[in-house]
Amino acid sequence: MGDVQLQHGNDRATWLDGSAVPCSLGSGHPTRVWRLVLLGAPGVGKGTQAEMLCTRLMACHLSTGDIFRAAKNACGCEPTAAMKSALEYMRRGDLVPDATVLDIVRERVGCLRCGGGFLLDGFPRTVAQADTLAGILLKEKIALDAVIDYRLPIDEIVSRLSGRRTCSACKAVFHVTGRPPRKSGVCDHCGGMLVQREDDRPEAVRVRMEAYERSTAPLTAFYKRLGVLVPVNADGSPEQVFERTLVALKA
Ligand code: AMP
Repeated sequence: MGDVQLQHGNDRATWLDGSAVPCSLGSGHPTRVWRLVLLGAPGVGKGTQAEMLCTRLMACHLSTGDIFRAAKNACGCEPTAAMKSALEYMRRGDLVPDATVLDIVRERVGCLRCGGGFLLDGFPRTVAQADTLAGILLKEKIALDAVIDYRLPIDEIVSRLSGRRTCSACKAVFHVTGRPPRKSGVCDHCGGMLVQREDDRPEAVRVRMEAYERSTAPLTAFYKRLGVLVPVNADGSPEQVFERTLVALKA
């Protein structure tokens, strides 16, 4: 188990900073390789499910939001002009322009090729991004196993977002009532400080929900047409949603 976590740590480094850090996967590959996309409005619990699914299915958690947050927190080096502009969109809760996101994903195409599989979280977010991803996967002869669409009523989403807290060090996700840490304000996994994400502030949440409705909701029709959409009810505890997801995937 510790071995698996170590491999995931290295893979995340490759994804997060886009550097040429070699992927350490090689031994201990899962017998069944999963290539998944997670869809769902902000606050629906995608990040939590992604963590649980990655551990169970031994696939890497590839979140574009985490790339931007890592760039924002990177100390000692000045972000590029494109990254600075992307971070400004993110601060407002708006979507980063497709061209920037797609450049960032193309730089990391090796993570999609990875023999250990992947779980894309927060990408694609627009039909243009989904089109480009489809082109990349076709070229690489990679097929998606499923696109999981987490569904939840809007008032439940708002309550989840306002209570969400994220570890400033390892990015683990908690909720003040739904998934509280053992010690208030402190991460169970690494002891890091739990903080409210800038884009979980109420004004940014409103912008994010509008961006979701306008740009991301049409992706469900896109993937339904391709026959890979798997709807999952995201109501209940993280463990209940996780079990529901495994059943839906027949994993
Ligand atoms: P997330 O953690 O997935 O909610 O992403 C946080 C923020 O990063 C979003 O509100 C956007 O500003 C930006 N972002 C992440 N992924 C994308 C994407 N695929 N397209 C556009 N913006 C993105």
